[in-house]
Amino acid sequence: MRPIIAGNWKMHHGPEEAARFGEALGIADLPPVELVLFPPAISLAALRKAVPEGVALGCQNVHWEDRGAFTGETSVEMVRGAGAEFVLVGHSERRHVFGETDDQVAKKMAAVLRADLVPVLCVGETLGERRDGRLEEVLLRQLDAVLDPPELRSLLRDGGQRMVLAYEPVWAIGTGETATPADATEAHGILARRLLERLGKEGTNPVPILYGGSVKPGNAGELMGADRVDGVLVGGASLDSKSFLAIARSVA
Ligand code: PEP
Repeated sequence: MRPIIAGNWKMHHGPEEAARFGEALGIADLPPVELVLFPPAISLAALRKAVPEGVALGCQNVHWEDRGAFTGETSVEMVRGAGAEFVLVGHSERRHVFGETDDQVAKKMAAVLRADLVPVLCVGETLGERRDGRLEEVLLRQLDAVLDPPELRSLLRDGGQRMVLAYEPVWAIGTGETATPADATEAHGILARRLLERLGKEGTNPVPILYGGSVKPGNAGELMGADRVDGVLVGGASLDSKSFLAIARSVA
């Protein structure tokens, strides 16, 4: 499995900036990695035209319905039509800034999987939850919300559809605070055990677990070298093509 280096641009880079980023993204000398960029939905088409072949794109959010009176929302078919294959689901800013619930996250997961796109499910604890010793409880609640519904479990286990998981401690996102490699290994271990219990070995696709939270060129190598870390989800440091490429080059 190639390490995944994913960049979440959040609400940065409109179509013109996205095109400039894509043109500057020289990937010829990279080690074997899977690159995925999540621009704002409005920049997907421009970035698709500009990035070198082999760079995958994703959308930061979708609605679970196919179409209808949902002003401001984007459907899975629109995402596909704009050239994206991945979708972030349950990013901490969606959960904590926009009040997205576990139930809504599960509906989005189902819509993404039914459309044959690849969800990147984000889970993570707040600082208060960590201090209260609730790391495992919170991670498993967020993961079980998508593994318990029978349709989802069957899509993932029997349908063998691909999914990616991202452990993103809320206290480390955009704060400059980073989990230690040992913190990441502990959390990824909790998640990996649950995936095995719920999906079993028969799931045809192993689920890579990414770490996200203030990843930068200076700490990416150490984090990606940690046990059970299969790649990184990068916010701020993915906005500049040089720093995004430097993170991709730090794969050992
Ligand atoms: C993110 O947006 O998923 C993220 C991890 O942000 P940052 O790298 O800026 O902490």
